[in-house]
Amino acid sequence: MSQAQNSVAEIYGVYDYGGYDQEYEVVVCGGGTSGIAAAIASARAGAKTLLIEKCGTVGGHFNVSGPPGFTYAHLFNCKGQLDVGGVVLESYNRLYKQGYALPHLRPTARKLAGYTFSYVDPDWWTLEMYDMLEESGATMLLDTLVVDVVKDGDRVTGVVVENVNGRVTIPAKVVIDCSGEAHVSKKAGCEIIEPDRDSMQPHSLCFSADGVDWEKLLKYINRNPEQFSYEEYTSCNPEQVTKEMVYDLYRKCVDIKELGEVMGFYELRDIALANGDWHPNSGAGFFLMPKEGGKILAHFQHSNHVDHALPSDAWDMTRSNIECRKQIRIAWRFFKKYVPGFENAYIVYMGTEVRVREGARVMGDYVFTKEDVHNEARFDDVIGLDSTPSGVAHTNDVNTLASAPGVLKNHGSYAIPYRVLVPRKVENFFVAGKHVSADHEAYLRFVQQTMVTGQAAGVAAALCVKHGITPREMEADVTELQRILLRQGAILSLPDDETQFTLDTLGEQ
Ligand SMILES: Cc1cc2nc3c(=O)[nH]c(=O)nc-3n(C[C@H](O)[C@H](O)[C@H](O)COP(=O)(O)OP(=O)(O)OC[C@H]3O[C@@H](n4cnc5c(N)ncnc54)[C@H](O)[C@@H]3O)c2cc1C
Repeated sequence: MSQAQNSVAEIYGVYDYGGYDQEYEVVVCGGGTSGIAAAIASARAGAKTLLIEKCGTVGGHFNVSGPPGFTYAHLFNCKGQLDVGGVVLESYNRLYKQGYALPHLRPTARKLAGYTFSYVDPDWWTLEMYDMLEESGATMLLDTLVVDVVKDGDRVTGVVVENVNGRVTIPAKVVIDCSGEAHVSKKAGCEIIEPDRDSMQPHSLCFSADGVDWEKLLKYINRNPEQFSYEEYTSCNPEQVTKEMVYDLYRKCVDIKELGEVMGFYELRDIALANGDWHPNSGAGFFLMPKEGGKILAHFQHSNHVDHALPSDAWDMTRSNIECRKQIRIAWRFFKKYVPGFENAYIVYMGTEVRVREGARVMGDYVFTKEDVHNEARFDDVIGLDSTPSGVAHTNDVNTLASAPGVLKNHGSYAIPYRVLVPRKVENFFVAGKHVSADHEAYLRFVQQTMVTGQAAGVAAALCVKHGITPREMEADVTELQRILLRQGAILSLPDDETQFTLDTLGEQ
């Protein structure tokens, strides 16, 4: 990776810092991956847009409590077709051109599994998101908590925020809840399905390390392929991807970057368990994080897990934050003591907040299901595609990943319909991000999915403002929405044959 240089004037740009004296048409609540995409798309589609975020930065799970191990993954289906475009691909391409992303990682086993990685450097991703927000004309209001909504009957007419200035009402023509946990939807009176405390997926606290002797580690991997996991490849496409194929990848790998993730260390972990040097809540392993100059960090998001903690209970989340930190100590001691190559490694980053895999979902005019995933459903009101299997879940034990996801019957992609963004009963209100309307198994929580729904909600909100209609009224005709999404680079359909889109056939960006 080589980095591009910008002049000071280019870096500074011209940004309108906004203010309470301005009138905002679309208000996006929450500046994670979905909120960023929603704000960019809404502003680009012509609406005066405000993005409100409770932290001092945008990014959400991607940087404050992340990044996700594989940053962008699943951008290609099992046939090798690129099925996610829009803000996701645009940000990847921008970072790649500047030297802050690795080429799409698609070795045969991953390609056939539809489990490809498109790594970006998460810190440069964050800076790029600020650039894209500024360029779009969206305004940010950070360090500000949305505490309530204002309603006129069923219509949401604004939000109430609290920050160091005090408590203020911000009027809006359309509000989008991108809080990840349906916090604003609950205030608006939407129909919510809460996760079940007993069966929900565990939370984790990410951390990253430098100083790993990668050659030494790679030798261990080459010699001990059976010590590493293969299930996340084979379970995505059991017909075409075999365990041997994955072991071969480990055996023949010459550059650690080809692997993307290293999960398992089974024998070492079991010895450590017997010695009281490992905890029983998660497996051992890490993902790879690209940094400047081709450097790689080991990024841990699976080495601590805390169960039975509802995101809607502050006491649960406090326990979760405390326990995750204890598990980091244990996990790190294990890697330093047992894993070849980690002798001189050191932690360079710890997430500030626990990351929540599973939270509330808001029921909308359509509930996306695991059957839709399996059947590769098509919808007239398609707003984006994806190919992540259903039921990909984590467990709070040494196996970490539950291994039987619901695969797609033709190894293709499914469509996500507009109606999952439109909550029942409440008007002038969208949801986007991981809490959109889906059943438990088809939970659309992966980063690219949250940005696809965010971008669509942003454009749709701008169109509702332009035409003076409600999100529900727009369900009658989404052709203009689809046209603008395509213009913004979204992918809404794929050819039935296995033709591969090239990156420059994806429309305007
Ligand atoms: C440990 C872990 C690992 C993961 N790994 C991967 C992975 O490798 N690949 C992948 O694709 N996905 C992964 N995921 C899932 C993915 O990272 C998240 O589901 C996704 O980023 C969620 O995006 P979002 O925008 O819906 O929510 P968030 O990123 O949570 O954004 C919500 C934002 O809203 C803000 N907010 C909340 N309430 C308010 C309020 N009242 N007022 C103002 N702001 C508010 C929050 O501060 C936050 O910034 C992982 C998740 C976890 C927990």
